[in-house]
Amino acid sequence: MRLDELAGNLPLKQSLVHPERLPHAMLLCGSPGSGRHTLARLLAQAMVCDHPEDAPCGVCPNCRRVAEGVHPDVPQLSSFVSSKDKDKKAIVVDTIRALRTDVFIRPNQASRKVYIIAPAEEMNPNAQNALLKVLEDGPSYASFLLIADNPMALLPTIRSRCVVYRLAPVQTGEALPVLQRRFPDKSREELMLAADQSRGIIGQAIALLDGDSKEDETVISSVNRCVDALQQRSELALMEWAVWVQTDKISREQLSRTYALLRDRALDALAGRQTGAALAQWDAPWLSRLADLTRTGVDAMERNVSPAHSAGWFAVSAVLWQ
Ligand SMILES: [Zn+2]
Repeated sequence: MRLDELAGNLPLKQSLVHPERLPHAMLLCGSPGSGRHTLARLLAQAMVCDHPEDAPCGVCPNCRRVAEGVHPDVPQLSSFVSSKDKDKKAIVVDTIRALRTDVFIRPNQASRKVYIIAPAEEMNPNAQNALLKVLEDGPSYASFLLIADNPMALLPTIRSRCVVYRLAPVQTGEALPVLQRRFPDKSREELMLAADQSRGIIGQAIALLDGDSKEDETVISSVNRCVDALQQRSELALMEWAVWVQTDKISREQLSRTYALLRDRALDALAGRQTGAALAQWDAPWLSRLADLTRTGVDAMERNVSPAHSAGWFAVSAVLWQ
């Protein structure tokens, strides 16, 4: 298959040989920005492409409609969300039931139907159980691509029905051609610096080069203090971090970003990625709890919990399972 649009990840790309041999349920994991959505789009295109020997060709009507998000046989998850559920963050059971009804309507323009479910861990347990039925008994023309940051947040029954593909951070040399295509006016040095700073996560390198994601000093300091405290397993150091958050009055966005970066590090360490993360010494259940805790932290910042309360809550929670 033609997957060169996805940077790096050579072993993964080599394992995806022909669109007709793709598993019917795939779970694409990796950090946000690691290329999961790009891979999902390329696989969806490949499955409906008019030229299976050279898929995804990127130019046939089927490939183009998938790229534009308007292919009737690759429907958007949002099209199954009812108006009463549209403000909910979680993917609820009614959404998956509506998707399941659609699955049994035969494809319209291609020979396959492809469903991309992202972020898959936003499915509540009822929704996951509803999806399970269709993963087990769905028609042979239907394929499912689940995208998740933390596959451990999915039910084991869902995970066991999917073939898991893990996106890895890429080397600077692998990132460079992708960044050069996207930013033809930037110097090689600028692109290399962005690739290095983003620890091989292409999406983050692109955000840095777009200039909308300059990490501020306060956030870097907050993450470093918190990682040090966790690393020392020191209750006192964790409480000191929380007090520092309270007294230095770091903003809601800065604390949210702190949680997000801690979560990235936990997920990197969970996946065995040695990308400078100081958390690699921890075991998987601990890292998984840290990933959950920081996700709750990000959610709390969106729900108007005060940063001071949230930092205190985080420190106490982390102390309890040291
Ligand atoms: Zn095509």
